[in-house]
Amino acid sequence: MNLEVDRGRLFNEIEKLALISDAEPPAVTRVVFSPTDGKARVWFIGLCEQAGLAVRHDPVGNTFARWSGTEPDVPAVGTGSHIDAIPNAGKYDGVVGVLGGLEAIRALQRSGFRPKHSLELLLFTSEEPTRFGIGCLGSRLLSGSMPADAARKLVDKEGASLEEVRRNAGFAGALEEVKLSHGYLKAFVELHIEQGPLLERHRVPIGIVTSIAAPASFRFAVEGAGGHAGAMLMPERRDALCAASELILAIETAAKASGAVDTVATVGICDVFPGAVNSIPSRVRFTLDLRDTSLERRDAVLRVIQAAREDISAKRQVVIQEELVNADAPAQCATEITEALSRACTKHQLASIPMVSRAYHDSLFMSRIVPAGMLFIPCRHGYSHRPDEYSSPEDIERGVLVLAETLAALAS
Ligand SMILES: [Zn+2]
Repeated sequence: MNLEVDRGRLFNEIEKLALISDAEPPAVTRVVFSPTDGKARVWFIGLCEQAGLAVRHDPVGNTFARWSGTEPDVPAVGTGSHIDAIPNAGKYDGVVGVLGGLEAIRALQRSGFRPKHSLELLLFTSEEPTRFGIGCLGSRLLSGSMPADAARKLVDKEGASLEEVRRNAGFAGALEEVKLSHGYLKAFVELHIEQGPLLERHRVPIGIVTSIAAPASFRFAVEGAGGHAGAMLMPERRDALCAASELILAIETAAKASGAVDTVATVGICDVFPGAVNSIPSRVRFTLDLRDTSLERRDAVLRVIQAAREDISAKRQVVIQEELVNADAPAQCATEITEALSRACTKHQLASIPMVSRAYHDSLFMSRIVPAGMLFIPCRHGYSHRPDEYSSPEDIERGVLVLAETLAALAS
């Protein structure tokens, strides 16, 4: 099999898709179910049809472009990613996995390869949380990780429901139908830019993802007692901000003491009430984003944080409430996929390193229903979600080559 990636054509397609955007080039903004997203989808489907793929979509707009295998009834091998982009983003996040996935299929077609298992290119709806506040909407529903009822309750900032918006975008049918039937896919592989600096720093063209970290997010509310900053003496105080500060430092300590660099904890928002220079803070609200590649370790760190919360609450006579906003379990990539990726790299004499994906991706959810894995390619300075996001055509070509070789192995 002589695999050749048409780098020039793929590069042109990435540039063309970047122009279907609501931002001034080079920035890209493409929010799910906007007219621009619709235009991009129509253009993408045209490319798939040119390649002879059969295109269908499900009620939430996940799109499947299928190259039928010689045994069309056996489970398919999937690849793909997303084309929605947060405001003022770049050209490559997600897009490399979608258009690169298409080019991998075309390269296999040109080589004369015929898959036994059908190859299916997936475009996932709303990987980015921009519109409905929750990321990976399409893959959550596909994998059954989110009940259709919960999805029906989603509303965007303008008050429009997902139900209304998706139907207006042309996607009818009940959300219950989105969930993939058991055994529909045999394997899933996603090509993605790294969104971090490690591959570039180590001068390695391919990262083979071994696990995908996932966040748990919480809201904390601390209720103390307010008062005059001059009149209320220190022994009498129940200062909510001092209690919150102690807890925030306990969170940092707990994450650092987990025993793994993969544990990260961030308090990114902290609101102080009443917020006056001469008034003792009576109420503080803050958020916690806690991530890890191991669910057990993340839970253990959370228990340490909860014990600290109780101690601080008792000691300082304040009430501290904790509310879970959302928790997704991290995923381990399937060894059959990481091994297939590694063999493909060896075959094409490309160096690779194992990596942890610290951002989450549709593959996190796909891994719950099918052996799944990811490969990363370098992006300049690790920049992503900004207009100067960049991956070189050579790096993209290498990623597509390894993807195509891996798909061929899995579909044979
Ligand atoms: Zn992405």
